[in-house]
Amino acid sequence: MQSTVVETEKIEKPIRILLIEDNPGDARLIREMLIEAGTVKFDVIQIESLREAFKILDEEYFDVVLSDLGLPDSWGLDTFVRLHTHAPEMPIIVLTGLNDESIGTEAVREGAQDYLVKGHVDGDLLSRTTKYAIERKRVEEDLLMEKKFSDSVINSLPGVFYLFDNKGQLLRWNKNAEKISGYSHEEIKNMNILDFFSGEEKKIMAEELQEVVAKGEATAEAKLTAKSGNEIPHFFTGLRTIISERLYLVGMGMDITEIKRMEEALRESEEKYRNLVERANDGIVIIQDGSFKFANSMMAKMLGYEIEDLEEEKLLNFVSPDFKDRVKENYESRQKGKNAPTHLELEFIRKDGKILYTDVNMAMIEREGRPADLVFIRDVSERKRAEKERERLNEEIYEKNKELEQIVYVASHDLRSPLLNVQGFSKELKYSMEELSSLLNDDQVPPEVQNKLKPIFEEDIPETLEFIQTSILKMDTLLGGLLRLSRLGRAALEFEDLDMNSMLSEIEKSFEFRVKEAGMNLSIGELPPCVGDAVQINQVFSNLVDNALKYRDPEKEGFIKITGVREGDQVVYCVEDNGIGIPERHLKDVFIIFHRVGQSTVEGEGLGLSLISKILSRNNGKIWVESEEGVGSKFFVSLPVTSDDDTT
Ligand code: ADP
Repeated sequence: MQSTVVETEKIEKPIRILLIEDNPGDARLIREMLIEAGTVKFDVIQIESLREAFKILDEEYFDVVLSDLGLPDSWGLDTFVRLHTHAPEMPIIVLTGLNDESIGTEAVREGAQDYLVKGHVDGDLLSRTTKYAIERKRVEEDLLMEKKFSDSVINSLPGVFYLFDNKGQLLRWNKNAEKISGYSHEEIKNMNILDFFSGEEKKIMAEELQEVVAKGEATAEAKLTAKSGNEIPHFFTGLRTIISERLYLVGMGMDITEIKRMEEALRESEEKYRNLVERANDGIVIIQDGSFKFANSMMAKMLGYEIEDLEEEKLLNFVSPDFKDRVKENYESRQKGKNAPTHLELEFIRKDGKILYTDVNMAMIEREGRPADLVFIRDVSERKRAEKERERLNEEIYEKNKELEQIVYVASHDLRSPLLNVQGFSKELKYSMEELSSLLNDDQVPPEVQNKLKPIFEEDIPETLEFIQTSILKMDTLLGGLLRLSRLGRAALEFEDLDMNSMLSEIEKSFEFRVKEAGMNLSIGELPPCVGDAVQINQVFSNLVDNALKYRDPEKEGFIKITGVREGDQVVYCVEDNGIGIPERHLKDVFIIFHRVGQSTVEGEGLGLSLISKILSRNNGKIWVESEEGVGSKFFVSLPVTSDDDTT
């Protein structure tokens, strides 16, 4: 191996040349020629075989290789091919003989930078060729780098990249284009951009392309038709560009399947909600800053307006004056984050001036980044009207009742005095008749007259008078009963917590004698307290115990059992006996005034149970009965529990 540094003044860094030449004469000639050129400093290292070349190329840096093709270990074009394969990035100039110049041309085709024909070279040509070879290789390398870089950029793009000429012929595209379309590189090479579209969209895209050519750029949404026939929605961009005075179009396509799917899902869900809101039977509105930002058609209908009439209008403009303060207060507390009711009863004024009664429910939502109210408004006008009607009827019934009681009171009270007169005069009539009958016994009265009148005076008239007397008594009892009943309705009540154990033990005491006399057993269980008027409730239980005594079965050993249990907000007491019981057909009538089951043997007015029933209804209680003829009866009384009784 020989090394020569060929010095020149102009360039400091020498060009390192690897000269592969086994002919020493040729080698010397080349070195001398390089000196002769004199413009550049060359550092020439000469070796003689391909094997040596491989070794030194692996170890050292060279700017260029000058290689003879006929070497001891390699011959002809093969020498170049092997050398080029070993060091692909190295610029190689092939040296050929006069006879084998064609090999030089072939070598250039295979990648050699140039060839020189030995014997036809001078210093200048050799120096220039060498420099150009190095330069060309560098430019080639740069271009390659540039291409590699742009390839990697294009391939790393998320979508499809394409470059095509003004006829639509594809020139460059990225890997994604192959992956997404399913076409191979070879297939795409021969394809036109419009081959990726089908049907109507092919036409549209052709027009779009015209637009890019005309305007310089355009975008379009279209479905890319893959080789498989799959249609994939894409968003395409196109840009007109001029390269080497020729027009090209470049652009990208982004897969928008997911966006489309989301748009569709959003559209569906919006439609679903719109349907829900529009078909709702309630008014649904969004209120922000006190104004309607949205109202469904039901709301507009309820108020008698068109939807447009409500938009941006103040809610308060539609609220009835009596309710404005309530709405304002509620709104302000909600604004301040205070706990305000989310459910209100509100009255609105309709366009026709009528009142719209509503139940309102609201929830805080966010609208355009600020708080707003989503409000559901239910028209309860029907219910309100029914409630008002019921109230009115109740009032009317109450008034009528009072009136009736008054009539009953006046009638029963005032009828009593004429009745007393009738009673008095019938008594007087009786005395007169007795006098008459003693006069009849006088001897002066002829016997046939006596015989005729005696049965009238002594039997018919006294019998009639007896009937009159009993009827008067009966009527008096009835009037007395009516009077008591009407007084009951007028009596002032004093509700208090009642200790039923002590009340019933008092009642027990007052009945002690009669119970004993009747040979009965009265037992009283533990009784929960209740609320009521002490005098009246006492009367209820006294009456029930009295009835149990009156309607006992003399054939049996009688008992009366009083118990009580709490059931929810009521206490249910039971007065049970094993008396004669009530036939089923009479059960519902026993609470009707003057109704008796027909026991003439037992004294009574048929008034007790109707009094009890009235008392209980005034004391917020109830009475009902279960009974079986010949077995016994159970009278149930329910009354409200005391407020502080939390036992269950
Ligand atoms: P009265 O006892 O004055 O007839 P009530 O109104 O107290 O009037 O009772 C109405 C009717 O109900 C009674 O006539 C009687 O037939 C029936 N009755 C009431 N309590 C009992 C009972 N404990 N056992 C059987 N029958 C009863």
